[in-house]
Amino acid sequence: MAAKRDYYEVLGVDKNASDAEIKSAFRKLAKKYHPDVSKEPDAQEKFKEIGEAYSVLSDKQKKAQYDQFGHAAFDQNGGFGGAGGAGFGGFGGFEDINFEDIFDIFGNAFGGGSRRSSGGSRAQRGADKQVNITLTFEEAVYGCEKEFKVNIQDTCEACKGKGGFNEKTCPTCGGRGRVVQAQRTMFGMFQTETVCPDCNGHGHTFEKKCTACGGDGIVSTSKTIKLRVPRGVEDGDTMRMPGKSSAGRNGGPRGDIYINFQVKEHDIYQRDGRDIYVKIPLTITEAILGCKKEVPTIHGTIITEIPAGTQNSEKFRFKGKGVDDEKSGKLGDEYGIIQIVVPRKLDKNQKELLKQLSETKLGNEPEFKKYNKYTED
Ligand SMILES: [Zn+2]
Ligand SMILES: [Zn+2]
Repeated sequence: MAAKRDYYEVLGVDKNASDAEIKSAFRKLAKKYHPDVSKEPDAQEKFKEIGEAYSVLSDKQKKAQYDQFGHAAFDQNGGFGGAGGAGFGGFGGFEDINFEDIFDIFGNAFGGGSRRSSGGSRAQRGADKQVNITLTFEEAVYGCEKEFKVNIQDTCEACKGKGGFNEKTCPTCGGRGRVVQAQRTMFGMFQTETVCPDCNGHGHTFEKKCTACGGDGIVSTSKTIKLRVPRGVEDGDTMRMPGKSSAGRNGGPRGDIYINFQVKEHDIYQRDGRDIYVKIPLTITEAILGCKKEVPTIHGTIITEIPAGTQNSEKFRFKGKGVDDEKSGKLGDEYGIIQIVVPRKLDKNQKELLKQLSETKLGNEPEFKKYNKYTED
């Protein structure tokens, strides 16, 4: 093994250099020779050498030993005096490096790089929430106000989402929110940057942790949401309430609430978009003789003229009596479908009258004529 270079020489500083000078020299050189950045062919070796020198010279005790005994102070078993295990002969040297310094140096080089692990202080959008709301037919048609409860994650009110009181710079990461960890592999030492475990990447901690949220700044809460349902909502419609769901983290925006509407069936009305269908039951005499008929609409009852001889399933249109749709600003129609209801029970008198009627000629309509052609052999 080639003779080890003097540590002061490696860092290019004087034996009487101050801590600050040593640190500064190390930072300059480490930046220059970092294997991820450096184009120098022997960068890896140089970088290790620099790290080794700095780990000794930045440590008061080791520096004193080195000043007194030189490399011999650490050569025993290839490690630090009696400490055993891998010394600087291998890749162990970085274990003693102050990683804050490393981070300072490579913060920029790593910036946004692939080694940056996710999470931490990255802004995160709050989670969305799906809510099913059931409306009566009328509520959907006329619109309404609804109140519902959702369980969401919200900003802790006690600490205003900070997680604690009396903020201070995180001592573990020095306020950077990230720490560099050295990893030994068969290819050499690698530094991985990770979120600071003590401040979760925020860079600050608190003298007093918030007990309401356990330091998270976020609490689970049941929130009452007021919703104005617009006129004309249909079964299966969805509606987005932006920013009404869970609070984001690290300044991220709130999530959205998505409302799924379910509309209950009505006794007599059926919706088809903006149009409404209603069956109009007629007695046989109303259908035969014609009548004035009251027809319910969502805008109130109207009276319509049913002409004599109205057939079953005939369709009447009541213009503008459908849904006043807020979204499109359009007004639908109502359609009345005639449903002739044959009496199931008759009293004696009615039977007698109908008997008389049946003896008159009723089967002269075109439907009968067409049909009868096929019954005559
Ligand atoms: Zn709190
Ligand atoms: Zn920290």
